[in-house]
Amino acid sequence: MRFLILLVFLLLIYWYFFKKKQILFNKKRKGIVSELVFDKNCQTYIKKEEAIKLEIENEIHYFCSKECLNEYLKNHSKLQS
Ligand SMILES: [Zn+2]
Repeated sequence: MRFLILLVFLLLIYWYFFKKKQILFNKKRKGIVSELVFDKNCQTYIKKEEAIKLEIENEIHYFCSKECLNEYLKNHSKLQS
């Protein structure tokens, strides 16, 4: 009987923390208006919807501008050859 009470108690604690986590998670998601992506050329984070997307060797790269993209491509090809 004691064991059963303990089990119910543990389940309640578990449920409580699980709910709390979910609420925190939802709050976090709402807080982020736009996703940030890393610009490898500038070494800075930029907004995903404003970034220029380019796929190189099955990897998606993001850049803040076309100039930045061209600069990265120049450096990238230099490294490869
Ligand atoms: Zn950039």
